[in-house]
Amino acid sequence: MSPARIIDGKAVAESVREEITRRAANLVEAKGIRPGLAVVLVGEDPASQVYVRNKDKTAEACGFHSVKHTLAADTPEADVLALVETLNEDPAIHGILVQLPLPGHIDESKVLRLIRPEKDVDGFHPINVGLLTTGEREHALVPCTPAGCLVLLKRTLGGNLSGLSAVVIGRSNIVGKPMANLLLQESCTVTIAHSRTKDLPAVVKGADIVVAAVGRPEMVRGDWIKAGAAVIDVGINRIPAPERGEGKTRLVGDVAFEEALPHAGAITPVPGGVGPMTIAMLMANTLTAARRQLGLPEEEPLF
Ligand code: NAP
Repeated sequence: MSPARIIDGKAVAESVREEITRRAANLVEAKGIRPGLAVVLVGEDPASQVYVRNKDKTAEACGFHSVKHTLAADTPEADVLALVETLNEDPAIHGILVQLPLPGHIDESKVLRLIRPEKDVDGFHPINVGLLTTGEREHALVPCTPAGCLVLLKRTLGGNLSGLSAVVIGRSNIVGKPMANLLLQESCTVTIAHSRTKDLPAVVKGADIVVAAVGRPEMVRGDWIKAGAAVIDVGINRIPAPERGEGKTRLVGDVAFEEALPHAGAITPVPGGVGPMTIAMLMANTLTAARRQLGLPEEEPLF
């Protein structure tokens, strides 16, 4: 078999950002309004700081109105809730994203539930979760990482995934569950696997589509993959890389990439696969949120 096609997430994300930039410019021309994104960071978690900086930079590059709120780690919960309420009322802000995880003294779900569903560009509010689950994706804001995975799958396999067998490994609210719901809406036959799944290799072996969202470096081995399957690796794991020098590390996914290459039909690399899609889809959600709040018709879906 020929080795898998490597899915270039960077290039797809770039094309999505270009499209969003073009659509945002059209909105400015038609209505004089820029899509507004507010990102809230509480604390100094280094990874979160990088994510928030990238989101802010990308929003500006897309021509959005972008606001960043950085609060100290010991900010009382009431102050975070008050900020969300202010952003809820701000007509220049169409999307609100509170970077997770929040410090332990803040009730994450309380904060997420306070964000107005129409401004919930992370798609974590129970209303958006419910709309996706009841098959009303067109009215929901869909979580960015699974939405990005679906764009990659459709660009790789073509628009019609109907009847394909899909295995999603992981059942988190952020990735696994919404991914499974999206694939179900595409009429895939979906299995959700998790830490209690028996004989995971056999479960994966039956799948035309494998989405791995586990957080365990290279857990999915090459010989688990059905010949020709499309493999989407969401995992981002940092492992020691002594071959690069003392104390050095490198990023790997949840799939043993080199091993999977001869088996898969297509596969995302880590880094450069799903990662860049997440921020691109955040921009797409912010634009969608802005258009809905302005009472404008939906544009051609990206997936
Ligand atoms: P999570 O909340 O920790 O969920 C992990 C899931 O994996 C759980 O459902 C868990 O099962 C399952 N699991 C753990 N060990 C397993 C095993 N041995 N066999 C089968 N399933 C197992 O993680 P997450 O937030 O979904 O993230 C998953 C990975 O994706 C992480 O590496 C994260 O860094 C990455 N990620 C990447 C992006 C991106 O933009 N590329 C975005 C989000 C997350 P149980 O429910 O039974 O415990």
